Amino acid sequence: MTGARTTETIHLLPGGSRRLRRGHPWIYSNEIRMDEAARALSPGTFVRVCEASGEPLGIASFNPHTLIAARLFGRDPDLAIDAEFLAERLRTALALREALYEEPCYRLIHSEADGLPGVVVDRYGDALACQLNTAGAERLAEALVTALDAVLAPRIVVLRGDAPVRALEGLPETVRTAKGALEGPVELGEEGVRFLADLEAGQKTGWYFDQRDNRSFLARLARGRRILDVYCHSGGFALRAAAAGARSVLGLDSSELALGLAGRAAALNGLAGLCRFERAKAFAALERLGAERAKFDVVACDPPSFVKSRKELKAGLRAYRKLARLAAGLVAANGDLLLASCSHNVERADFLDAVRAGLLDAGRTGRILRDAGAGPDHPVHPALPESAYLKCFVLRLD
Ligand code: SAH
Repeated sequence: MTGARTTETIHLLPGGSRRLRRGHPWIYSNEIRMDEAARALSPGTFVRVCEASGEPLGIASFNPHTLIAARLFGRDPDLAIDAEFLAERLRTALALREALYEEPCYRLIHSEADGLPGVVVDRYGDALACQLNTAGAERLAEALVTALDAVLAPRIVVLRGDAPVRALEGLPETVRTAKGALEGPVELGEEGVRFLADLEAGQKTGWYFDQRDNRSFLARLARGRRILDVYCHSGGFALRAAAAGARSVLGLDSSELALGLAGRAAALNGLAGLCRFERAKAFAALERLGAERAKFDVVACDPPSFVKSRKELKAGLRAYRKLARLAAGLVAANGDLLLASCSHNVERADFLDAVRAGLLDAGRTGRILRDAGAGPDHPVHPALPESAYLKCFVLRLD
């Protein structure tokens, strides 16, 4: 980005601005006058958005090939989307996180909710991992690195361009280190517990910051108890529970990379003696533990998305129900069960229905102790309630 204001313009069709005027940040392709000039704009161009009448409404990134064709960056039609603009958004986002967290480890930018559609920045102290998920965001790569330098002077900046959503935008899969050189995994701290994240090869940006508050809650229930962390990744729930005084911890995951980091993090915290991490497929492992009549006082299940597209909804809900049944069967009397869904295609009420049905299948009753989502470093744009993708229930079973 040069810092110049955009000279390109798109026009909406009559009535096409209704959602935008109600505060929504997206414009769909069928709301835009897709004339030859618009179609010729290259994906990710920043454009001035105008009413059919010519009245300017704001500045957006534009991709003529996607259903969500324009994403609003601001309502000032003279806004320049440059490093200075990005630095301002970063400072605002940073002030919020600094007020919320003692350690400099959190999601710093959460896309639309932080005013930067398509951009995610996760902060691991002086190392940053960014996701650029739209053609507009991709165009900002260089300016973003400049802005991050100005605001945080990081040692490392990794640009993760490997999220599946990029394919929709016609973007290639690429992971690059834009600043510094990574020498293995980086350390991060969460409420005093140390963890390890691989910013280049780890899942997403290397760590799931979204579950922090739910991990804190579960840690409060962990003292003196036997913990099973299914889908444990690099030990998030497992090590928070161990640090809080759990009697024993078993973590299961299918990823060798994630498990390796969990084991190393356990050692970093002096908790290796308490924790076991094993490679396993979750459903098979739950069935095996059930057949062995194994019991745990706390079982956490935080699976990957079971519903990646709407057509997977039915099968996905059945899988959540099955997961709830198998996991509930392993919970000791008066034990606790955490079940999470990160599928944005699944509504909270439907997920709760699946959980309830699963408990019934298992012949268990209980009560909901916690009904939560992601932490406040994953804010939600009020017009995009579906971006509150994480559902997390904790139940005490009889
Ligand atoms: N609870 C973790 C995040 C879990 S993300 C935390 O607090 O950080 C989901 C995890 O499920 C990933 O680590 C992924 O490797 C794992 N996974 C995916 N499919 C799996 C399967 N079939 N069996 C076990 N683990 C699986």
